Amino acid sequence: MEGTESHTYHIGIETGGTSCKVGIMRDFGTENIVHSQVVNTRRPLDTIQEIIDFINSFSYIYNSVGIASFGPIGLDKSQDDYGYVTTTPKVEWQNFNLLGLILSGIKNKSDSFKVAFDTDVNIVAQFESDYGGHKDANGNLIYITVGTGIGIGVVLNGQMMHGLVHPEGGHQKVPIHKDEVDYPGVCVFHGNCLEGLCTNVSIARRKELADVEDNKTISDDDKVWDFVGYYLGVACSNLIFTMSAQKIVIGGGVMNREILYDKIRQHCFESLNGYIKHPRLASVEALRSFIVKPSLENNLGIIAAAMIGAKQQ
Ligand SMILES: [Zn+2]
Repeated sequence: MEGTESHTYHIGIETGGTSCKVGIMRDFGTENIVHSQVVNTRRPLDTIQEIIDFINSFSYIYNSVGIASFGPIGLDKSQDDYGYVTTTPKVEWQNFNLLGLILSGIKNKSDSFKVAFDTDVNIVAQFESDYGGHKDANGNLIYITVGTGIGIGVVLNGQMMHGLVHPEGGHQKVPIHKDEVDYPGVCVFHGNCLEGLCTNVSIARRKELADVEDNKTISDDDKVWDFVGYYLGVACSNLIFTMSAQKIVIGGGVMNREILYDKIRQHCFESLNGYIKHPRLASVEALRSFIVKPSLENNLGIIAAAMIGAKQQ
């Protein structure tokens, strides 16, 4: 029978530029997603309604929701835009009350219903640090996703990093590779910032491919992977220098290109250039356990969101 008191039910929602995902977790655990659905991202009201309809199609009493959203989003509870998607390039989603609409839409909430709302990358960083396969980061973990955009989530001293807003490390500047000084990049704000240089769109643009799906046809020995590996490797060294991270987890669609991991480690090592004396940074080989893959291949976003939501105070 659904909704018996012997179980708890937790909702995980991940919003993305092309698709969103919603999952229902029964009790607590990475293997516990019992229902999930992918929803194509279109106008926000339609998209969120489909997610809410899915949630309300079950008769469970829900104990929590975790929302891992693309950004930028409002995270300051003292501000009017808390819970909103704010200045995204996706015009229809600008100044949209994402959290408010979801909370008002969920019908069966328990009396002690809990909420987690943060960037998709901060939520995954917290999950990897607390419950994933990377607890050895001692609560100092950075998660980078490289796909249609680049997001960087930061957990320091066990807490997701918030400040003025939240980290937007995907838009950091990196030195331009000497063999592509004329490439302008694709970021609409900055041209050749990290995101402008390394997303699937940027990779396709360099190769004059019409669709990012065609990136699969690029061979492993193509120079473009050296460029992407170089920029991401330098970015990792920047993050180690500035955040003193103890582990960097990198995921996202672009990272399905396995050879990138070793290129990133190599360039990170060269960029560090021996400055920080620590056994975990002592060689490219040592970096194999420092710059790593996510601990889950499937449903990472919704599992992370559901588990972080469930553990809110
Ligand atoms: Zn940018």
